[in-house]
Amino acid sequence: MLNDLTRPLAETDPEVAEIIGREEDRQQNTLELIASENHVSVAVRAATGSVFTNKYAEGFPGRRYYGGCVNMDAVEDLACERAKRLFGAEHANVQPHSGAQANVAVYMAALKPGDTVLSLDLAHGGHLSHGLKVNFSGAMYNIVPYGVERETEQCDMAEVRRLALEHKPRLIIAGASAYPRTLDFAAFAEIAKECEARLMADIAHIAGMVAVGLHPSPIPCADFTTTTTHKTLRGPRGGMILCRAEDAKLVDKWVFPGTQGGPLMHAITAKAVALGEALRPEFKVYQQQILDNAQALAAALRSYGYRLVSGGTDTHLMLVDLRDVHPDLTGKQAEAWLEAADIIVNKNMIPFDERKPTQTSGLRLGSPALTTRGLKEAEMATVAGLIHTALSAGDDDSQRERIRTQVHELCAQFPVPH
Ligand SMILES: *Cc1c(COP(=O)(O)O)cnc(C)c1O
Repeated sequence: MLNDLTRPLAETDPEVAEIIGREEDRQQNTLELIASENHVSVAVRAATGSVFTNKYAEGFPGRRYYGGCVNMDAVEDLACERAKRLFGAEHANVQPHSGAQANVAVYMAALKPGDTVLSLDLAHGGHLSHGLKVNFSGAMYNIVPYGVERETEQCDMAEVRRLALEHKPRLIIAGASAYPRTLDFAAFAEIAKECEARLMADIAHIAGMVAVGLHPSPIPCADFTTTTTHKTLRGPRGGMILCRAEDAKLVDKWVFPGTQGGPLMHAITAKAVALGEALRPEFKVYQQQILDNAQALAAALRSYGYRLVSGGTDTHLMLVDLRDVHPDLTGKQAEAWLEAADIIVNKNMIPFDERKPTQTSGLRLGSPALTTRGLKEAEMATVAGLIHTALSAGDDDSQRERIRTQVHELCAQFPVPH
């Protein structure tokens, strides 16, 4: 069923309209537990679909390479102002097309090819743009990974320090895609200072919580902070870089012309809208509910016998170790079985996983999208029960079909922003 923004397409391009309509139905009728996803407001979608998509605006406000940029300047200045106010940063660059692009620009600003970078091991929750061999980061730089400690499954700052002093990295990265605990940015900053490295904090996942003070902020202590705008920040797909005034020119020049061409002005317009939403008091209430819902989901899963990596979570996400309850079930199979019940998750490695990345022993679950729909603690316990039943059904697809019906009933009570 097409919504107000997409309905005109039904006449002009019924083929695409049909696919969009199916996706709107899918989002309405599934439970979205992928930790990096969210449902943006209608206002953010309207801005994304605005006439700003028509315009080239290479350069920055007041210094463009094209005429006709008066409104581009106004909206980009507004987005930057809001970003700086929200995070308490001296400088913001809102042009990166994505989180990975923001990281590319910072690496170019801080590093020469072949320089050493210390970053969280991908198998322990790091992001591919932090040094995966087949990503440009792994191809261009000498990556030294730090891991989580075996016992606690948490970052071991003594080990980070030891590696930093041994390898003398030029850049240390503090940030993760699948790490459920608070990151101690101040401790990373101490270590960076001691070994004369620069510090990049990548808050792609936790930006929403950082913005409202529910996770410690790296802004006072990191040289560069990168983020996506589409995860807990609940804006359009995109990236952003925050830094001190003294590094503003360096960062800007490595975004444009260093690594990008024309900015996606429609996305920047939508970033301005999302940042405006994030500055309102309701956004803090939303972020607190994300955390409360994650705690409720974690507690309910533990009550069914599931072990959570590191024992729990401080954030919006958790890693479920499937092995205690289902020794033979891989993350891959679990993901497929849950999808058959219209519960959407992603398989994920757990630290020291003995299975391959394509199989895995874990699932990553997050609460941001369901929280946007209005689910609260009681519903999160229900969701945990549905997950457990779907995973325990084995080959019994009819049981998963029954769960799917229950999922649809729950979804109907909590419409996605339309
Ligand atoms: C999601 C994520 C990114 C990359 O974001 P894209 O917009 O997909 O490029 C970068 N860093 C971390 C830690 C992430 O979780």
